[in-house]
Amino acid sequence: MNEIRFHNTLGGKVEAFVPQKPAEVRMYTCGPTVYDYAHIGNFRTFVFQDILRRFLKLRGFKMKHVMNLTDVDDRIIANAAAAGVSIRDYTEKFAQAFFDDCKTLSIEAPEHWIRATDHIDDMVKLIERLQKKSFTYPGEGSIYYRIAKFPQYGKLSNIDVTGIQAGARVDNDRYEKESARDFALWKAPKSGEHFWDTPIGKGRPGWHIECSAMAMKYLGETLDIHTGGIDLAFPHHENEIAQSEAATGKPFARYWMHSEHLLVEGEKMSKSLGNFYTLRDLFAKGYKPSALRFALASVPYRKQLNFTFDGLQQAASSVERLRNFAARLAQGKFPAGNQKGMAARIGEAAEEFDAGLSDDLNTARALAAAFDLLRETNIAMDKDDFRQGDVPAVQEFLANFNRIFAVMDDNDDERLRALGFGPKESGPADAEIEKLIADRQSARQRRDFAASDRIRKELADRGILIEDSKDGSVRWKRK
Ligand SMILES: [Zn+2]
Repeated sequence: MNEIRFHNTLGGKVEAFVPQKPAEVRMYTCGPTVYDYAHIGNFRTFVFQDILRRFLKLRGFKMKHVMNLTDVDDRIIANAAAAGVSIRDYTEKFAQAFFDDCKTLSIEAPEHWIRATDHIDDMVKLIERLQKKSFTYPGEGSIYYRIAKFPQYGKLSNIDVTGIQAGARVDNDRYEKESARDFALWKAPKSGEHFWDTPIGKGRPGWHIECSAMAMKYLGETLDIHTGGIDLAFPHHENEIAQSEAATGKPFARYWMHSEHLLVEGEKMSKSLGNFYTLRDLFAKGYKPSALRFALASVPYRKQLNFTFDGLQQAASSVERLRNFAARLAQGKFPAGNQKGMAARIGEAAEEFDAGLSDDLNTARALAAAFDLLRETNIAMDKDDFRQGDVPAVQEFLANFNRIFAVMDDNDDERLRALGFGPKESGPADAEIEKLIADRQSARQRRDFAASDRIRKELADRGILIEDSKDGSVRWKRK
């Protein structure tokens, strides 16, 4: 077995991974803020941390993994007040949607799913510890963290905080403080909004204190791994370190692993560009959960992932190839015995699969190992060289493959139905196709060829071929 090596954002190097206890990994993942549906950029991170925990389990570690739901923040409290409902009622729908989305994408449940609102006492206690050590100061009912007292601040993201000017917005709170870089641990209540009445005053916790308090409650004062998207490294994770290490005097997390951004068709995903997708948006277009999981998992987590509909289509065909291969193995009747060299070849593929994942979770390399074996085995089957005696070893390889990638089971339709989507049987309805074709015609009339090409491509992606005839009319057919 290969030495496991991970890139540690803290220090910026790839290092051997050695947890504190030999057979156990204590890991924390910053979960979603549940005021909306999570988007595919969020799920890139959640698929990454899922692959990570699955790999560690495959390598025999017992996981102690915590993921939080941020169900208290300024937007949630304000929106809940505006809607006249409790915080729990407001967030419940999105929390449930997140659990459902994770299940649909085969993201394993961590050992502990926890909500911030269930841990206000733990946050208050941690703030009290920081108060005793003079890391805090009050201001208009709020409590701030004094970064000047924590000289290591910035060690994770290597950000130079000395240049941050007074008044600059480095955090999403809008309270008065001594220094612009300081952040709120506890926020004074706002009129008409929910607050907690606690020994440190009335108010609500800041975002950063949540993760420090909850991570240490379940995992101890020093975690093995802390994961999240790279956009959380500063200020969120930097602040988690400042809070936790100031309170305990111990390192907070030994390995910090961050996934890179996701782009959509080469551009930053944003609602204004119209390229913002939740899982449900993609399922409504007829894409399958397994294809999305494969597409998100196939690019190593530290590389930027350019999500494209072509790529998603390719991912769907890759999943299909894998499933067809598994079916051929299970159903084929091959001559008895073993093919010369096959056992060694399978062993080599398994070794390369493990080497890829051990190499900072290089999923592309692990996938290549699987697809090489698949191709060679298919060729051997075509030539009648493959033997029945080798079937179990190839199946065992695929089973291990699936313990990480989790796309082999043919359960997409079932999962989509559970989310309320019908399986894609006949593609889009005629009326929808006519509507898209009309949109394309008007795009062409105003000479917006980019738009007309996009619509043609969308139709093609959904199995509809269109043909422009000389008389200016458009014919279409289903592939
Ligand atoms: Zn966090």
